Amino acid sequence: MSPDPRYAPLFQPLRIGPVTAPNRFWQVPHCSGMGNQHPATLAAMRGIKAEGGWGVVNSEYCSIHPTSDDTPAPYASLWDDGDTANMAAMAEAVHSHGALAGVELWHGGGRSANVLSRAAGLGPESILSDTAPWQNQRMDRQDIKDLRDWHRAAALRAKAADFDVVYVYAAHTYLLAQFLDPALNARADDHGRDFDARTRLIRDLLADTRDAVGDRAAIAIRIEVTDEDGRGAEARAEFLGQIAPLVDVFDVTIPDYGVEMGPSRFVKEAALETHVGHIRKATGKPVVSVGRFTSPDTMLSQLRRGILDFIGAARPSIADPFLPAKIRDGRLDDIRECIGCNICYAHDGLGAPIRCTQNPTMGEEWRQGWHPDRVPALIGQADPVLIIGAGPAGLEAAVTLGQRGIPVVLAEAGEPGGRVTREARLPGLSEWGRVIDWRLTQIGKLSQVTLYPGSAMTADDIRETGLAHVMIATGSLWRADGRGRSNPGGVASFSGPNILTPDEVLNGARPMQGPVVIFDDEGYHIAAGLADLLAAEGHAVTYVSPAGTVAEWTTYTVEQTRLQARLIERGVSLKLGQIVTALAPDSATLACAYTGRETSIPCVTLIPVTSREPQDALYNALQNKGLATLRRIGDARAPGLIAHAIHDAHGAARAHLTAQPPPRRERPIIASS
Ligand code: ADP
Ligand code: SF4
Repeated sequence: MSPDPRYAPLFQPLRIGPVTAPNRFWQVPHCSGMGNQHPATLAAMRGIKAEGGWGVVNSEYCSIHPTSDDTPAPYASLWDDGDTANMAAMAEAVHSHGALAGVELWHGGGRSANVLSRAAGLGPESILSDTAPWQNQRMDRQDIKDLRDWHRAAALRAKAADFDVVYVYAAHTYLLAQFLDPALNARADDHGRDFDARTRLIRDLLADTRDAVGDRAAIAIRIEVTDEDGRGAEARAEFLGQIAPLVDVFDVTIPDYGVEMGPSRFVKEAALETHVGHIRKATGKPVVSVGRFTSPDTMLSQLRRGILDFIGAARPSIADPFLPAKIRDGRLDDIRECIGCNICYAHDGLGAPIRCTQNPTMGEEWRQGWHPDRVPALIGQADPVLIIGAGPAGLEAAVTLGQRGIPVVLAEAGEPGGRVTREARLPGLSEWGRVIDWRLTQIGKLSQVTLYPGSAMTADDIRETGLAHVMIATGSLWRADGRGRSNPGGVASFSGPNILTPDEVLNGARPMQGPVVIFDDEGYHIAAGLADLLAAEGHAVTYVSPAGTVAEWTTYTVEQTRLQARLIERGVSLKLGQIVTALAPDSATLACAYTGRETSIPCVTLIPVTSREPQDALYNALQNKGLATLRRIGDARAPGLIAHAIHDAHGAARAHLTAQPPPRRERPIIASS
């Protein structure tokens, strides 16, 4: 494809304050799980985004002072000269590709628990921290003065680190949003007594920041478009208009993080448009906002209709750091679209560098030297690789080997897609199918990769091909016997016709007439998704879990509260803190996870969602049979997230016949005196 001139407006430069953005692609500040603990990892990751065409690349939230410490969540910081040097590495990496580097100066206020710094928190009022049973100190006049000094000092460090955009961060319930919110700010003084007073700190910080660095950097504000006073969006827009002379670019959002960061299960592309469409007119300044934009036509339409001046993106830039370059170069069908699974964000919450289901190179740019758009070719002539199984692992391995110039024969028993095809049948998850679509599109472009659907392979079949390099990507299947965390040895009575596995249900099997019990011993989304699916079809469903909430692990993916609400609304009976310990023809025995006390509930069909069995029989049968190389990859090796399968397969394909250095590691080293 050649570049489409229709998309030229997306590549128009735009001046913001003293700097000029080279195009309209704005990687908004987003958590990376890297922060001040992994500065080289961070710099390389942000640099790759700039290389991929993002015109402005921002840091994550960047703490201005130890009183704003989110440990164990990773955050950037500009507390001292050491931080300045580390953040300068990020700015330099971004600059090396002609993009602007931005930093989001952050103070968490009373939300930060400060477990590392052990500082007392600060806020307009004394509130409970987000994560711990302790409160912050109510700010007095001196505290407010100190805060302004720290913010100015951090802005100057940002300037020293050569940042081009400096944010004042007034959203997401952090310190400045706490001052704005009358529910959290009932102060009677000139920082709380009325609207004017509650906005004073924002105005002061904007003016301070402009004064400190405005000659060199554009001043951005990240702020919500609705008014906590309940006076509505109009009052907020009026306020944004008032501060516009102090601001070069407005990065606007809404208070509901579950929509802003919405998983595709519940929230689709461009969900913020109706909320932010008026801000450009109200402020007369450039506006950026997000919407999990992956369609160039949607992006163009946002620009054309004057909704946005910059296409803001976090997740789409994670799933495809080269998204802008691909639009620019007319490679639209190469765009690796975000599927909205929020596995990226989940890992930030787990305190680790982010990763991505779609993009196995995310977080590996520095650690393993992986590039999202290039893979080193194998030197010399290569024998073909036979891959068994075209789920996400088999497909990713085929694409990566093919891109290395290695011939691939990909044999799949049924249709390609594996578990992704099954899971995408759960309510709201159709976008997950993009994982398969992108890889099939790439395979279609690789003449050396041939896919054979409808080809179930035995060990003899494999030997008969005469191919000497084999990768086994046969996946995993949900166990029927109840083996899992709660019943490690399985449950003898989990057998017979009243057991259905999740795979069987997702392949179209349905429970018999009568009550259905779904036992979620795993905690991710499958059991809750099945409960949603079957209840919507009219089955009487009871969801049982030893956890205290539905789909407990989805707290990390910002899906938990909505999933639980969904099941409640569907009339699913919830039995939390309970374990299924036995099954009879018409009933299931539950044991309280705390007391062990047993009860019995009606059950005609039990769906155990406990753990999975790796399908590694072929791998075992082929060992020591004279193959040149034999690997198992993905779920056949270790059942995990789709992201694990793709990452494992990608790594295996890079390592095929090419030794890889061990991953690099960042850690503090004791300085020699
Ligand atoms: P992963 O997540 O590791 O890619 P999946 O379970 O999604 O694993 O996919 C495994 C794929 O392997 C499925 O599409 C399945 O049909 C296929 N498969 C399993 N056994 C065989 C076999 N013997 N021959 C060919 N394909 C197989
Ligand atoms: Fe999108 Fe999922 Fe990748 Fe996050 S992990 S960027 S939500 S595909």
